[in-house]
Order: sequence, then structure tokens, then C-alpha cells
Amino acid sequence: MHAVAIVAAAGSGSRLGADLPKALVPLGGRPLVAWSVDALRTGGVDEVVVSVPTGRTGEFAAALDADVRLVEGGATRTASVRAALAAAGNGPGAVLVHDAARPLTPPDVVARVLAALAAGAPAVVPVLPVVDTTVVVDPAGTVTGALPRENLRRVQTPQGFSREVLVRAYARLPKGAELTDDAAVVHTIGVPVATVLGDERAAKITVPHDLQLAERQVRP
Ligand code: C5P
Repeated sequence: MHAVAIVAAAGSGSRLGADLPKALVPLGGRPLVAWSVDALRTGGVDEVVVSVPTGRTGEFAAALDADVRLVEGGATRTASVRAALAAAGNGPGAVLVHDAARPLTPPDVVARVLAALAAGAPAVVPVLPVVDTTVVVDPAGTVTGALPRENLRRVQTPQGFSREVLVRAYARLPKGAELTDDAAVVHTIGVPVATVLGDERAAKITVPHDLQLAERQVRP
């Protein structure tokens, strides 16, 4: 099964307090996006398309191998994935969509996603259990109830799809719609989404503390 990976890397570094796009922020001396692309390749994907912020293609080209394709992303993650998916084309096989902001994703997670697709799942996401009690609050912040955490999961990336399913789901999604992940996009056309085990090391780098934790993990 041929697998192409889309890396969403067109976000800003604003919550990280960086003056660079987040995907170019260094971790252990290498840009986050370079770590993410390596994890995908080691995990078994054949091709990589990275969606980059407008006007920053040159910096991403300098950070990545020449066989990584670069496309300009959009104002939202959904728009950035849509642009990369159009560049990736259609046809048989699988598409994985990954956040550049998850640089230390173990290749085993990528391999588990690919294995589920090879076994016939049309869509699959890596997940982790919710270990804290999780509550619902009203607008004032007062607890109104608790959710049964045994049925809850935290969703990570890479998320994997039959390419035909993801292309169809994005084609039907109204332009301008913004969803926080791609499983939500395929859910809109009624495709069942399977789960495989994620990994705490696939955590998303959002705020400076996340980057400090990641630096500790890569320190020799
Ligand atoms: O902002 P957040 O960390 O949730 O973004 C998740 C991923 O989506 C990041 O890797 C980011 O670069 C990407 N993104 C994107 N295009 C945007 C916004 C975010 O590719 N317009």
C-alpha cells in the first residue's frame, strides 16, 4: 500500500512566543518539521508533502530533504491540509495527516496507523486514555457534570485514511469550514474512524513548557 503523508506546518509560533513559524523552531538544533518528517519516513510512509506558511517556502526547503514536496498552506489548519491534499493528487493508497508540532512521535505510532489501514480501516486515529476526571462547566466555570472517562480518548496524529475517503470528505466540506482534525472531516460523511494506541511522546508542542519538555527528551 502506497502511503503519502501530509504535514500541517503552516501555523504561526505565536503561542510558543516564537518569532519563527512554529514548525521551524529548533528542537535539539533541528527544526520541529524535520523531526516530524523523519518520524513519518521511519514509520513507513513513501512520500511527504508539507504545507508551509505563505512566503516561507525557502526556509522550509533549506530545512528538509529535496524529495519533500512543499505547498503553501492557508489561514486555518483545515485550509492547509486541503491545499496539501490537492497537491498530493488522487489515486489508490493511503494518506496520513500529521502535525509538524508533534516532532517526537515514535515511528511505531506511524506503523500502527499504516497497519490498521492495510487491514482495511478507511480511517484511523492514534488515541490515549483520559486519566483525569473530566467535567463539564457552565459559562461561569461552575461544574455541571462529569463525563465517563472510560469512554473518552485524547486524539493525536498522524491520522490515517484511505486516500479516496479523505479526498471525498474534503470535497464535500464547505469552503471556509474549520475543523480541528481530519477524523472530524471524514466523520462528516459518515465514515467510521478506528483507533490505535498513541504515545505520550507524540504530544503536541503548543506553549514554551512543551518545548522545554521535548528538549529534555532529546538531550544526549
Ligand atoms: O495551532 P496548532 O498547534 O493546533 O496547529 C496544529 C498543526 O497545524 C501545527 O503543526 C500547525 O503548523 C498546523 N497549522 C497549519 N496551518 C494553519 C494553522 C496550523 O498547517 N493555518
